[in-house]
Amino acid sequence: MKPVDIAELGAEPLPEAEVVVVGAGAAGITIALELARLGREVLLLEGGREAPDPRLQALHEFDCVGRPMRPNYLPRLRQLGGTCNLWSGRAMRLLPEDLRPRSAVPDGAWPIEPAELESLYLEAERILGLPGPGAFAAERWLAAASPAERALLASGRLVPRVSLWAVRPRRFARDFAAEIRQSPRIRVLLGGQAIGLRETAEGGRVEAVRLRTLEGRDLEVRGRAIVLACGGLENARLLLLSTDRRPEGLGNGSGLVGRFFMDHPRAVWGRVELAPGAVMRILLGRPVPGGKVQLGLAAAASIRAERGLLHHYVTLESEQSSYAREQYDVAVQVAKRLLRRGHAGGRLDLRGVLAGRTPDLLYLLTPKEILPHWAYRLLWSARERLPRQPRVERFVLVHFCEQPLDPESRVTLSDRRDALGAPVLRLDWRIQPEVVRGMEVLAGLLGEELARTGLGRLLPDAGEPRFTDASHHMGTTRMGTDPRRSVVDPWGRVHGVANLWLAGSSIFPSGGHANPTLTILALALRQARHLASNLSSL
Ligand SMILES: Cc1cc2nc3c(=O)[nH]c(=O)nc-3n(C[C@H](O)[C@H](O)[C@H](O)COP(=O)(O)OP(=O)(O)OC[C@H]3O[C@@H](n4cnc5c(N)ncnc54)[C@H](O)[C@@H]3O)c2cc1C
Repeated sequence: MKPVDIAELGAEPLPEAEVVVVGAGAAGITIALELARLGREVLLLEGGREAPDPRLQALHEFDCVGRPMRPNYLPRLRQLGGTCNLWSGRAMRLLPEDLRPRSAVPDGAWPIEPAELESLYLEAERILGLPGPGAFAAERWLAAASPAERALLASGRLVPRVSLWAVRPRRFARDFAAEIRQSPRIRVLLGGQAIGLRETAEGGRVEAVRLRTLEGRDLEVRGRAIVLACGGLENARLLLLSTDRRPEGLGNGSGLVGRFFMDHPRAVWGRVELAPGAVMRILLGRPVPGGKVQLGLAAAASIRAERGLLHHYVTLESEQSSYAREQYDVAVQVAKRLLRRGHAGGRLDLRGVLAGRTPDLLYLLTPKEILPHWAYRLLWSARERLPRQPRVERFVLVHFCEQPLDPESRVTLSDRRDALGAPVLRLDWRIQPEVVRGMEVLAGLLGEELARTGLGRLLPDAGEPRFTDASHHMGTTRMGTDPRRSVVDPWGRVHGVANLWLAGSSIFPSGGHANPTLTILALALRQARHLASNLSSL
C-alpha cells in the first residue's frame, strides 16, 4: 500500500495490526516484506519520511562521552530506508569461528548454529544483489590470485577474508518501494516517532507503542506482536525509555540493556612496501561480474586461539584511498549533499563547503565512480594486461577490528531532552587495550611473511593508532539463552516479554570480524519466519 503520513491521519484510533514493525531500515523492511509474503498483516512504522528532513534527523543526535564518533559523518539516518540510504555496501559473512565460544570473547558465542546461518546468508546475498552464489568462498578468488598473493598465504599463518560489493549498494526504500506498495498486507506510516512501549497491567506483554509527532500529537499503535528495528542504538534507547511499569526499562531485569556497545574500530596504521614485481590483484580489490571483491588478511584461527586474540583483519589500500585520506569523509559528505540535497539538511552553502577541498572532490571522480560497471571492468582488465615496469610500491595498512565484551562501553539516557521531550542517548564508547594488541600481532605476522617470502617489508607507524568508528552499532541488547546474561532470546524475543522482538545488530552477542548488515538481513529473515509461525499462539 502507498505510505501514509501521520500528519494526514484523522483523530480516530489506528486499527490494531497483526505485527507492528517499528523502523523501516534494512532490518525493518526485510522483516515486513517476509511477513507479508508469509500472509501476515504488517504495520510498518517509520519515524522518517521519504525525503530527508533535518528536524527529524536532529532526533538522532546523541551525546558522546567516551570515544568520539568520526566527524562529518551521519552514523544513522532518520529516513524511510534507514541508514542504508548512505551505507557503503561492503558485505561480509561471519564465519563459524565468529559464532563459537572463543577465549578472546568469553560469553560472546552466538546461540545459532553456523549451518543455519549459511542458508540464510544465501538469501540475504540475493537481497543485496551481491555477486554469487559461492562468491564468499575465498578459494574461488585465490585461483585468480597473483603468485605473490599465493606466496603470502602459503604458510597458512595469514588467512583471507572476503568482502563483496554489489554494483550499486542496495537502497532499501527505493529498491523495494514497488513491492511494498503492491503488497495488500503492508501499511506504511511515516513521521511517527516511537517514544516508548506500554506494558499491560499484568506485565509480560507490550500493549501499545507510544508515538509522538514533532507537532506534539500523541498516539498509540497496537499489534499482536511488536518488532523494534530502529538500529543498534535506538532499540536500546526505546527499552530504556519504557519505564511505565519498570524504572529500569522494559526487558532490563538483567541490567544489560545498553551495555556491551561494540563497533568495528578502524585505523590506518603502518605501511607495506612491496618489492618490484610483487603484484597484488585480489588483495587490492577488483571488479568482478556483478560487483567487486577484495580479500583482507587475518591471523589464522589457531594463532588467534593460542594467543587469545580478537578477530581483526587488514586490507592493503592505495595511499590515495578513502581510508588514507583524512579529508575523504568530508568529500563524501559534500558529494552526498550535492547529489541528494543533503541528509544533513538545510540549504547548501557551496562556497563554504568547497573551500580548500577541491583535491578531495577530484578523488571522487575516479573511473570506478564515474564509469558504468562493465566499462570499469574492461578498463581494469586492459590495465592488468599492460606490461608494467617493476618498481617498489607502497600501500597503507587498514585495520578493521573486533572489540571484546566490555560492560562499561555502553548506551544510557542523558539528562538532555530532544524536541519530543524524550531523553537523548548518551554513548560511552570504549576501545580496549586488547584491540591494539591484536593489531600489533597481525601487523607483525604480515611483516614476518613479507620478509620470509621476499615480497617486501612492513613499515610500522610510530605511536598509537588513530581510530575511527565504522557506524556498526552492535551488542546493546544482546542475544542469548540465559536471561541473566542477555536481553533477547535466540530468536530476538525480549526475555520475559511475550510479544516483543528486537531486530538488527543490537542483538549481536559479539561483533566478529564482519561488517554487520548482511548478518542483520539473515537474522531478519529468520526472525520473520519464526514470528509468522508463532503469531497465532501470542
Ligand atoms: C556511512 C556508513 C557506511 C556504512 N557502510 C556499511 C558497510 O559498508 N557495510 C555494512 O555492513 N554496514 C555499513 N554501515 C552500517 C549499516 O548502514 C547498518 O548496519 C544498517 O543500516 C542497519 O540497518 P537497521 O535497519 O538495523 O537500522 P537503520 O538502517 O538505522 O534503520 C532504523 C530505522 O528506524 C527508524 N527509527 C529509528 N528510531 C525510531 C523511532 N524512535 N521511531 C520511529 N522510527 C525510528 C529510522 O528512521 C530508520 O529508518 C554503514 C553505516 C554508515 C553510516
